[in-house]
Amino acid sequence: MEEFHHSILPEMHEIWQQTLNWQPSIEQQAQFQQLYEAIVIGNQKLNLTRITVPEEFWEKHLWDSLRGIVSLLPTNSVGAHSRAPLQKIIDIGTGAGFPGIPVAIALPDAEVTLLDSTQKKVAFLNSLMTEMNLQNIQTLIGRAESINKQPQHFSNYDIALVRAVAAADVCANYALPFLKAEGLAVLYRGNWTKEEETTLEDTIKKLSGKIEKIEKFTTPLSHGTRHCIYLRKTSS
Ligand code: SAH
Repeated sequence: MEEFHHSILPEMHEIWQQTLNWQPSIEQQAQFQQLYEAIVIGNQKLNLTRITVPEEFWEKHLWDSLRGIVSLLPTNSVGAHSRAPLQKIIDIGTGAGFPGIPVAIALPDAEVTLLDSTQKKVAFLNSLMTEMNLQNIQTLIGRAESINKQPQHFSNYDIALVRAVAAADVCANYALPFLKAEGLAVLYRGNWTKEEETTLEDTIKKLSGKIEKIEKFTTPLSHGTRHCIYLRKTSS
């Protein structure tokens, strides 16, 4: 464990800027570092993630989380602070808090709900929120397919994020009911096939959703293939 005590996340300012046209502030970088350390420590008791090497954590947990919501990131211009409208975001099957926690750090004006069906993961997230004093995050225990039918959650979110939870059509079934009309679901995927797209299209017709955009990209350090599938909710 000794090696982790001195593990510092890389800053990667140029890569952030070149790929997302955004950079973390000094405060946000400190929060990323705090998050990283808390996850490494939490991992000793809970099986949270296999990604604990600093560069890999930066790429697969921080960069990948924010790549999916790049269009929501404020473009950095020194001195100008444009206030984004309040957005309600839900991260479905958040696990150790991805993509939801990096998104909440990058978008302090958004309200982020982290949902997971596993009690012990949510207990970890709750202690993390207290430790890091992240005030724009709430947690929720339960299964997406039942929570999304409850009146206080159905049609209540502007954005739903789903990474590494289930097949794409299942993720769409989880995500779309949470969205308000015109809301956006982001499905974080690795590879993407025509078959998945056909199945997804059939599924979302019944859920008032349409595929708005599919973005293919590679991760900046290890050059892995990724796809983000953006679904728009057409009506409630
Ligand atoms: N999104 C995270 C974690 C992926 S692991 C990441 O990308 O790192 C999948 C997580 O989804 C697990 O923590 C599991 O408990 C949760 N999960 C699976 N099915 C779910 C469901 N139906 N509702 C809520 N959470 C679910």
